[in-house]
Amino acid sequence: MDARTVHIKSFGCQMNKLDTALVRCALLDAGFTLTESIDDADVVLLNTCSVRQHAEQRVLSHLGNLSHIKETRPDMVVCVIGCMAQRLGDKLLEHKVVNIVCGPAQMPQIATLVTEALRERKKTVAVTAKIRQPVEEQLQTFEEFESAYGLEDRQIPGQAFVRAMHGCNKFCSFCIVPYVRGPEVCRPPKAIIGQIRKLADNGVKQVTLLGQRVNAYKYKSGEKTYCLADLLSMASDIEGIEWLKFVTNYPDEEFFDEILLAMSNLPKVCNYLHIPAQSGSDKILRAMNRHYSAAWYLGLLNRARDAVPGIAIAGDFIVGFPGETEEDFAATVELLKKARYRNCFIFKYSPRPETTADRRLEDNIPAEIKQRRNIELLAVQGKISDELSKEFLGKEAKVLVEGPSKKSHRNSGDGAAEPQLVSRTAEDWIVVFNGPQSLAGDFAKVNIIRTSPLTLFGEIV
Ligand code: SAH
Repeated sequence: MDARTVHIKSFGCQMNKLDTALVRCALLDAGFTLTESIDDADVVLLNTCSVRQHAEQRVLSHLGNLSHIKETRPDMVVCVIGCMAQRLGDKLLEHKVVNIVCGPAQMPQIATLVTEALRERKKTVAVTAKIRQPVEEQLQTFEEFESAYGLEDRQIPGQAFVRAMHGCNKFCSFCIVPYVRGPEVCRPPKAIIGQIRKLADNGVKQVTLLGQRVNAYKYKSGEKTYCLADLLSMASDIEGIEWLKFVTNYPDEEFFDEILLAMSNLPKVCNYLHIPAQSGSDKILRAMNRHYSAAWYLGLLNRARDAVPGIAIAGDFIVGFPGETEEDFAATVELLKKARYRNCFIFKYSPRPETTADRRLEDNIPAEIKQRRNIELLAVQGKISDELSKEFLGKEAKVLVEGPSKKSHRNSGDGAAEPQLVSRTAEDWIVVFNGPQSLAGDFAKVNIIRTSPLTLFGEIV
């Protein structure tokens, strides 16, 4: 067969990007080549996200664009993978431009599905029929796929994401993840550590362990039950790995102290904890099926700060959840002020099919109010981030360099020799400075000379 070109686009979270990396490797291994341009592509592959309606709309409008292109190039194969594929299945296949619909669990079949579609121009759907009932054989196949292709994620030099667990069992009432990613399945520690070791051999310095609630990682093997802290400890022993991060955490008592202990005792474990609160109102937290109160959550953050001095904490909030009054929102503002996050992500509630919130509650907060609350929270957080970032002024920071900045913050005219580089600290602060592109994937020391709420600006030491 001729060399075939694939254009791949990712629409979602870090888990989605990790899946994209696996698929990219699998397709390269099967003899495909990658292209940045849709015009050259024999195959266009979209990895989709279902977490908010907006994410799905972006995919649908992209499919709309592709249908214009396909009018002149009917042989082009369009493949939709990921959560939206799992959620919509056959319905997505009805879209005239789509050739392949492939769920997250079916990714190991991707090269075969694409090859067949190119040859036979047929439409295929491969998704899990009963998403909450995992099939042992399928999990095994996936594990082999992941171990084989999870070795050279080169999106950001020197960094890799490694899945610790699949799925979610929490059933937060707003969240679609349990319905598209299935139940929690923890990967064997051996597979995870083996993968990290190989990544280290390939020059990876920072590994981020991923799970929908990675702090709940639990794997029983003989007498021993492994938790996230055990993974962090084993990964710390791997030569070449310098920084370990993990996302995301569900506020929970179980394993919390163990994780904090790992953070304070193991130098490679970065002092960064992303632990979403979602709301500061106990009434809304109950309606969200989050099993804690605002006061308990703040107590948890205090414990983290006592155990790990200098820890950077990040969070997520949803504004405009059904029934959220001004009083509830004020409680969220209050929590946000007390939490003093290094940064946080704020989302407007988006009703998702199948979730309990969508089935039982009316999406009764008008769009303008969601928007106003969103802006207000961002402003409160902006002020906090600004204060926290100023503490770095005049200090030296160790950073891991990602690569040239896409935006030009300053001195963009310095030329190719010293382009503007983006990097991050262990606490996940973004640091921008001018330096040689060859630093991408390496650590550097930078003096912080200017700050903004989200970005620190420095000069290389
Ligand atoms: N389990 C992961 C992924 C969840 S999605 C995690 O906790 O990070 C990431 C964030 O999207 C969530 O924390 C939540 O703040 C937001 N989110 C999830 N469902 C949503 C919905 N229906 N509407 C708006 N935001 C949502």
